[in-house]
Amino acid sequence: MSEVFIFGVAWEEIVNWFATQPLYGQILVLIGVFAVLALAVVIVYFVLKGVAYLVYYVLKGVFYLLKGIGLLFYKIFEGLYYAISGKPKPESTAVEEQQAPPQVIVVKEPEPITPVQRTYKTVQSDVAFCSECGSPFSDSMVQTLFNKGFVFCIRCGHGYQANSTKIES
Ligand SMILES: [Zn+2]
Repeated sequence: MSEVFIFGVAWEEIVNWFATQPLYGQILVLIGVFAVLALAVVIVYFVLKGVAYLVYYVLKGVFYLLKGIGLLFYKIFEGLYYAISGKPKPESTAVEEQQAPPQVIVVKEPEPITPVQRTYKTVQSDVAFCSECGSPFSDSMVQTLFNKGFVFCIRCGHGYQANSTKIES
């Protein structure tokens, strides 16, 4: 039986040492071993992830490098072609048309027109004094109040209503 060594220590020695430990010591050792294993798995995962990112960016860089070299050779040969043939170089179409950003048309909604409401005080026929200016209601005012249901003070213009408290002017 060949002996297995871990960090220079024989495997059987480790097993014997483990067997001689008390139960809580064995549990602690197992927990420690699992923790180390989990940590190793996490480290390996991040290392692989980093390597994958590295390979990805290297390939990407190589791609752009080749693309740039190809474009450079294209420009060189294009320049040579026009230099040799003597043809006028057409206007470069590389100038991208500057597209104006789409204009945002702000449609302002008209503010709702709130009808001006005047509050009216319900008055009784026998209390015929304006609460604003104190002038007594004339007979025509009282008559209007009873006929139309509302009336305005002839002096200050304060509105009064017979039934409800509000009316739209
Ligand atoms: Zn009044």
